[in-house]
Amino acid sequence: MAHSKAVLVLENFIAGNFVPCSSYIDSYNPSTGDVYCRVPDSGKEEVEAAVKAAKNAFPIWSSKSPLERSQILNKLADLIEHDLEAFAQAESKDQGKTITFARTVDIPRAVYNFRFFASSILHHTTECTEMATMGCVHYTSRAPVGVAGLISPWNLPLYLLTWKIAPAIACGNTVVAKPSEMTSVTAWMMCKLLEKAGVPHGVVNVVFGMGTKAGEALVCHPDVPLISFTGSTLTAQRITEKSAPHCKRLSLELGGKNPAIIFDDADLAQCIPTTLRSSFANQGEICLCTSRIFVQRGIYSEFLKRFVAEAKKWKVGNPSDPTVDVGALISKEHLEKVRSYVKKAQAEGARVLCGEGVDSLALPAGNRKGYFMLPTVIAEVKDESCCMQEEIFGPVTCVVAFDTEEEVIERANSVKYGLAATVWSSNVGRVHRVAKRLQSGLVWTNCWLVRDLNLPFGGMKASGVGREGAKDSYEFFTEVKTITIKH
Ligand code: NAD
Repeated sequence: MAHSKAVLVLENFIAGNFVPCSSYIDSYNPSTGDVYCRVPDSGKEEVEAAVKAAKNAFPIWSSKSPLERSQILNKLADLIEHDLEAFAQAESKDQGKTITFARTVDIPRAVYNFRFFASSILHHTTECTEMATMGCVHYTSRAPVGVAGLISPWNLPLYLLTWKIAPAIACGNTVVAKPSEMTSVTAWMMCKLLEKAGVPHGVVNVVFGMGTKAGEALVCHPDVPLISFTGSTLTAQRITEKSAPHCKRLSLELGGKNPAIIFDDADLAQCIPTTLRSSFANQGEICLCTSRIFVQRGIYSEFLKRFVAEAKKWKVGNPSDPTVDVGALISKEHLEKVRSYVKKAQAEGARVLCGEGVDSLALPAGNRKGYFMLPTVIAEVKDESCCMQEEIFGPVTCVVAFDTEEEVIERANSVKYGLAATVWSSNVGRVHRVAKRLQSGLVWTNCWLVRDLNLPFGGMKASGVGREGAKDSYEFFTEVKTITIKH
């Protein structure tokens, strides 16, 4: 693949310094297919240096008061916000997402992650009990754990990385972060702001590179007692195995195969646009995206007709065009994988109602080598089909009919994943009943992706281990001790 003229070269960020690496990986612009960036191909040596820097910084950082750390986090949030447009442009170019999505979702949320944990760290309390007959008082105290290893995926690069860095350092840990090798640019840009924000050298170290090399070196490092990982279930299994000899603390946020359940009393005027977003936002590359839509039989035909007509209006094209709704998928390999699911569905007798293989995709001349795909709606897919069981992670959604509440709960639960579900109904009793029985860490009713960061986020079954949020992240990133005083 030809290198575009000005190739950006990233460096690792260790102990407050940008450090070159002996070898590099090519990183592609998904909307053009050009190599536009070179990412350090770090390994054991670089991870060792970063862990050492994080260990050295721990005593000072962990002894700062929550208020001092909070002020630094707020300053960092302000600095990222000041450069929001530059970050959004970079995220869009690096990941393929639309500039609109990067401007309105990714970067504002990265800013908010720092602000949120800057505030929440000031408001935790610990427990205390009294045992009068024994003359004892018991209380708990919490302390940061040490060096946290943070590994993040490519779909929401800075958003998900800062969702880990912010609570980890707010609690007084120091960190070694390893962003996805496919989307490393915004993490590197953030490193440039750390000193100005007042983050002491060594508190945040970023090592770029491959998961199997840099990621695994971090997972296996004996001085990294906790790993917070967001990515695929397969990688999580590997991380669990590799970290087992060290008995590490793990937080695992993984894949999903999320159902939307639409009852015949749903408000379709709200449900249809939201379900289009939940299926196709960020090219369908969000772990929370809907990919199985169960529609009650009485409204099935009407829903399908309106849903497909609206899906066809989603504009696919150059991500930097603010009128575009769907940008490029992350890589050529991923595009091929997503397309292969559509072919498999067709081979099994399902009907592709719009998108891949049905409609034609007109792209601007500069984007013809990019990794684009039309939003695709498939109907009449069997529940056992791989399209209804496996995470596709692209702009593909399956629509099927159901008859009863009991039946749809069983079918919605019949996958290995359990991350997020949406329920559409105007019957309050039903909404509560169904939400309670769905095997899913998050259930949204009559909405999607509305988040209060105070509350737990995470998945059941193969979608994860542990939860993140104000209290959950605080508990994960601190070690609790019970102290008993006899008087
Ligand atoms: P991935 O598992 O391939 O990679 C994630 C990260 O892990 C990357 O930084 C990668 O380099 C690293 N990695 C890979 N192999 C490793 C190893 N052996 N040891 C240590 N690190 C390793 O996932 P991806 O393709 O980047 O991301 C897509 C997946 O992430 C999807 O399954 C999606 O559902 C999931 N995801 C989940 C959430 C959530 O909050 N539950 C959020 C976003 C994405």
